[in-house]
Amino acid sequence: MKAIMKTDRGPGNVELRDIEVPKIKPDEVLVEVKFTGICGTDIHIYHDLAFYTPPVVLGHEYSGVIVEKGSDVDGFEKGDCVTSPATIPCGQCLMCRTNRANRCLGEEKRILGAHKANGTFAKYVAVPKMILHKIPEKLSLQEASVAELVACVVRAAFERVSVEPGDVVAVLGPGPMGLLTVQAARIAGAKQIILTGVSADKERFSVAKEFGADVIIDVEKENPVEVVKNLTEGLGADVVFEASGSSAARKQAFEMVRRCGKVGLLGLTGKPTDINLDSIVEGELDVKGSWGTVWTSWKRTLNLLSSGLIRVSPLISAKLPLEKWQDGFKLMEERKALKVLLIPS
Ligand SMILES: [Zn+2]
Ligand SMILES: [Zn+2]
Repeated sequence: MKAIMKTDRGPGNVELRDIEVPKIKPDEVLVEVKFTGICGTDIHIYHDLAFYTPPVVLGHEYSGVIVEKGSDVDGFEKGDCVTSPATIPCGQCLMCRTNRANRCLGEEKRILGAHKANGTFAKYVAVPKMILHKIPEKLSLQEASVAELVACVVRAAFERVSVEPGDVVAVLGPGPMGLLTVQAARIAGAKQIILTGVSADKERFSVAKEFGADVIIDVEKENPVEVVKNLTEGLGADVVFEASGSSAARKQAFEMVRRCGKVGLLGLTGKPTDINLDSIVEGELDVKGSWGTVWTSWKRTLNLLSSGLIRVSPLISAKLPLEKWQDGFKLMEERKALKVLLIPS
């Protein structure tokens, strides 16, 4: 089968290869991948900027159909439509035992498309039953392939930092995560949703409006901290989500949140940010990081998607055959696409 592999360490070293169809273990199923999304992580691995262990088939956002199941697998049958998170936790460590398997510390942890587990940029992928979720009937395979991204936002916006009815919520960064956070804030009953981005994000701003953003701030034209303060009688936003991964936005988050407000950090900057942490003490801020997903995030996500409360179709900018992965990576890197789906054949 054809697969997109990171063959070695270093920048680049990604190629289309012909490899064997995976052999499943007793606790695994073989999934025929129908749609698989290109994630920022895949691009970071391409550039050697994220954790991975080569050689490995890339890709972890997907939907597919079970075509074979191991002898120990119950509750799933051939023909079931499924999706899953990327992390295959050890199930034994402190994090796993305290419902934080997203931050598993175990040596045996594997990550689809990155570490000790070939990913979904291929016609078939082997997935352990432990992490599988059935796709509800009302949800299409195409939309379900974006579920992982939604689950990350559900984790951040409902499980880590909770938005309360009537809150003023600021979302920094109009990438897929930011745009989904806008929808999450809307569902939670925010009174006003403010989204920030740069001039190049123009098209993303219109998606944000469609998803329920009330105020859009182009940070190249206006000072976002001032605008938020003006909109809130000098108080600041009740909740700020940083979803851009920019140090400047991170600083703004702490400057625009109200006293005793909440800050959710979803984006990684890859470097230290110059912030005076006294502001957390003096402001009695609730600051939460959010990373990946746990089981409950997926349950909630699949309910929200199948009921239409969260919509992902406007995020899907392009669908390409797997062989055209380079075009897909380029569209994402040049910010010409929010989400590109690859279709293996
Ligand atoms: Zn991802
Ligand atoms: Zn663990």
